[in-house]
Amino acid sequence: MATTTNKQRTLNQLLAVANSGTDSRGKSSKEESVCANLPVLEQVIFALCRENATLAQAQLAFENLKTRFFDWNEIRVSTIRELEEALAGLSDAETRAQRLVAFLQEVFEERFAFELEDLHKKGVKQAAKKLTNYGAANEYVGSWVVQRSLGGHAIPVDAATLRCARRLGLIDSSIEDPESARAALEHLVPKAKGVQFTDAISEIAESHCWEVDPNCSRCSLQSDCPTALESRGEQLSTTRVSRTKPR
Ligand code: SF4
Repeated sequence: MATTTNKQRTLNQLLAVANSGTDSRGKSSKEESVCANLPVLEQVIFALCRENATLAQAQLAFENLKTRFFDWNEIRVSTIRELEEALAGLSDAETRAQRLVAFLQEVFEERFAFELEDLHKKGVKQAAKKLTNYGAANEYVGSWVVQRSLGGHAIPVDAATLRCARRLGLIDSSIEDPESARAALEHLVPKAKGVQFTDAISEIAESHCWEVDPNCSRCSLQSDCPTALESRGEQLSTTRVSRTKPR
């Protein structure tokens, strides 16, 4: 189990990589700013696209929604098939399309309009509760919107974030559910670094920390990452055993 000092050192290393401004593919982390100033309703929809997707996939899907349809009402009354086409490239596009329509329908029935800006006037806790009460939202969506639009401290945790945070030892390997991971990460990561952390861990998960065969030898966190160190130790001991001469 990583000590608090080790977790802090790894976190600093992760944030330093993000601070360098570019990842291994030369992409600027500033690309994430596409969602920096979205109205609350649009931030919810961006989060529906972003969960378990890369930044590029989410951006493309979100742009498709904004350009292929006249407005959010047209999306609300469109068929799931039409929305699936706009969301192509995202995993489980059909379920995402259903959640999108359900969310817009719920907002429309409640307000006869497509805006949620009044949530800015509620306290962060109240606003987060309101958001997660929408049937189509979930913990990830609520945390994303709190972090990006409502000025609160929340760390959205999807499968990639959970995987990468466990491998890096930022959360204990016994933590398997996103809710516990979120609580642990919100304790570890300062509020002022929340967005940077979320973007950085997402970039590492996308560029190197793949679900199968992570590319540790090319990952800039390999010198601090317990998973990479463990795997290197195993490789070394295997090499030593195989070099031992038979008697
Ligand atoms: S060193 Fe390997 S396991 Fe650790 S974060 Fe990088 S890719 Fe993932």
